[in-house]
Amino acid sequence: MALTALDIYKLLPKTNCKKCGSPTCLAFAMRLLAKKGSLEECPYVSEEAKRVLSEAAEPPIRTIVVGREGRKIELGGETVLFRHEKTFYHPTAIAIVLSDTLPEGEIEKRINQINSLSFERVAQELKLDMLALHQTSQDKKKFIQLVEKSAENNQLGIILISSHAETLKEAIKILGKVKPIVYWTEPESIDRYIELVKGNSLPLVIKGETLEKSLQLAEETIKSGYKELILDASGENVGETLQNLTILRRLAILKNFRPAGFPLICFVPNKDKEIATLEAGTYIAKYASIVVVDFLDLEAHLALLTLRQNIFTDPQKPVTVEPKLYEIGVPPRDSPLLVTTNFSLTFYTVTPEIENSKVPAYLLVVDTEGMSVLTAWAAEKFTAETIAKAMKTQDLENKITHRRIIIPGYVAVLSGKLEEETGWQVIVGPKEASGIPKFLRQLYS
Ligand code: SF4
Repeated sequence: MALTALDIYKLLPKTNCKKCGSPTCLAFAMRLLAKKGSLEECPYVSEEAKRVLSEAAEPPIRTIVVGREGRKIELGGETVLFRHEKTFYHPTAIAIVLSDTLPEGEIEKRINQINSLSFERVAQELKLDMLALHQTSQDKKKFIQLVEKSAENNQLGIILISSHAETLKEAIKILGKVKPIVYWTEPESIDRYIELVKGNSLPLVIKGETLEKSLQLAEETIKSGYKELILDASGENVGETLQNLTILRRLAILKNFRPAGFPLICFVPNKDKEIATLEAGTYIAKYASIVVVDFLDLEAHLALLTLRQNIFTDPQKPVTVEPKLYEIGVPPRDSPLLVTTNFSLTFYTVTPEIENSKVPAYLLVVDTEGMSVLTAWAAEKFTAETIAKAMKTQDLENKITHRRIIIPGYVAVLSGKLEEETGWQVIVGPKEASGIPKFLRQLYS
């Protein structure tokens, strides 16, 4: 658990000498807590206090960065159990297993499919993140070929899974600047395991026979000075995996138990696609940093990526689109002009309905700091003045030949003032976006 000002105060000299610029040690503790001061400002602080306080300043779950230049993947770094307490920072990475026993030609085909699987939703591109390269054959050459093919022509992160240290060593060398996660499934000893990755600071996956054993291994590794760890939370079944994920997250956040404070990986075993999708979704919701699946299916991944996007969207920051003039279809200069806010959900509700009308149109999006129509109006962000200002900024006088603007029905009250501000005729549109097609067709066809 995070330290309080009183906890910090107890570690300070308590002489109130004022050398740090604060009137008392307690005042200095409060400055430190608010991250407005540095421990260096107190010349009398003990080495033990420095150690405890610098450890306490670290987030309860370590952030691990993997991947390659241009597409770094950040894992962990979470500070809360539930999103509404603050936010979640780093979305669960979704990895697809590629085994070295895949038939000739199938590896490239799968990598291409993974690369091309991408969706756009509320102005964000949703994609898969990683390849989990698994040596299931005993043939080192085959695995190395798989690694070579996976290193080229893609931006995906890589997890190396093998029971052979020498194979892993060679694979790490081949990957060069791609920073993989290393999963040695049968390590001879934790020292040998650390030795394998230490020079490159690569993240290691830790997995004991039980959860307790995994935590012991993590503790030993931390003591040896190596902290680039990922814990494998996979259990015998979905219930056990979920339990492991929850226990580890609670230990890290609520107890500040360092051996549990690392990103978590879990594997979804090969089974019925629908069940596997539900299982992967469960782990995304609680609390996996990486979910490894072996299915590659458009519908299933759309569901998982959408779920992930919803969970990892910051509830304090509305998703927005760029405020500007959008052309829907190829509108001639006398096409209708509608206006709305830059709340992403509003924009993506309104736009398809304009498209459905088959009437090419202009859509003016006003910067309302991501608020929807009624909220923005109530907060005075979507007013006659802000709409008039947006019309001017976008130079509508010169882009459009007519002088008519359609406002959402919910803000009909703005029409008089907007006419005064702009001199344009204001037409009140439907309240709901679903009414737009009929409205536009009646008015313009
Ligand atoms: S310098 Fe250190 S001992 Fe002196 S008041 Fe500040 S915190 Fe306390």
